[in-house]
Amino acid sequence: MNPSTPGISSDERYSRQVLFPGIGRKGQELLAGARVAIVGVGAIGAATASLLARAGIGRLILIDRDIVEPSNLQRQVLFDEADAAASMPKAEAARARIAQFNSEIEVEAHTADLVPANICELLADADLLLDCADNFETRYLVNDYAVQQGKPWIYAGAIGAKAATMNILPRLEDSGLSSDDCNPAWAPTGCLACLFPGAPSGAVETCDTAGILGPAVNLAASLQAAEALKLLTGQAGLMRRTFLSFDLWTGERAAISNAAPDPDCAVCGSRTFRHLAGKSRPHITLCGRNSVQIHEHQRPLSLTALLHQLQLHPEIEELRANPLLLRFRRGPHQVTVFPDGRALIQGTTDAGVARSIYARFIGS
Ligand SMILES: [Zn+2]
Repeated sequence: MNPSTPGISSDERYSRQVLFPGIGRKGQELLAGARVAIVGVGAIGAATASLLARAGIGRLILIDRDIVEPSNLQRQVLFDEADAAASMPKAEAARARIAQFNSEIEVEAHTADLVPANICELLADADLLLDCADNFETRYLVNDYAVQQGKPWIYAGAIGAKAATMNILPRLEDSGLSSDDCNPAWAPTGCLACLFPGAPSGAVETCDTAGILGPAVNLAASLQAAEALKLLTGQAGLMRRTFLSFDLWTGERAAISNAAPDPDCAVCGSRTFRHLAGKSRPHITLCGRNSVQIHEHQRPLSLTALLHQLQLHPEIEELRANPLLLRFRRGPHQVTVFPDGRALIQGTTDAGVARSIYARFIGS
């Protein structure tokens, strides 16, 4: 009996999961000793964190740069109206909610933008990285770090009615690490860059421009959490070796194999970590008294297409465009976007806030 939770024993709490032959008592013990980092505690991150916290993962490390907003409540399962009213940081709100249903596990909350300068510190203790980010920049950064360090990671994303996920099991021998009893060696898979060498260019559809259904979020989170349970109980051999996407509206399902690394891959083949070195990131500067400039010069945008994406958005005001720039206001921020991808965000001096706005409304 845990003294902090009178009346609830661990045996009772996890009894139905222990009954499942794939977990059992030994698997439950392994989960109690596991350390998992969740990068992005928005829709998928909150659902995955809820599943893994209830499953008894011993330590969760939650990282998110955003605050809870009213438009999150439709799908982000760990947050409520009071969190939105108080503009609670998502990582902290998630930690507080998890403590209400499983106070036996340890949860660390970091309100931070995951960047090359802090990734080693924030993810050092994690055995497994779960990507629940809302942008490709962070995903490629996680891919670089995971391949370099020999840490497994699981991609999950959702947009509209579509969910997508992929397991990335890097080579251990290149990282200088070896497997231990809890984590028998796995046959390496292809990494994110093996299948998709670069992030999409131009304006990318995001949940803020294309919308999203709660069921797609929960499907992506369920697939991700189930694969995590296999890995953390020493059953990496059972993990899926494809990039899987599923459209809940049409029922279409697609799978692309990532069963083996591509020897020509720049990341896991040549071990060139451009994102980790910060070479693929746009330069960000403070300019004026209250604005941030994102010097993204390699994402030529169609301002007409972006205007079309943004014009139905209920929170966007004063939207206008000419051949030289597109400008809009959202809450306290005025955003000006140029055809080469550069953007000026007025109303903040916080680079993380500016990057979040860019990722949500332009895509990154
Ligand atoms: Zn690769």
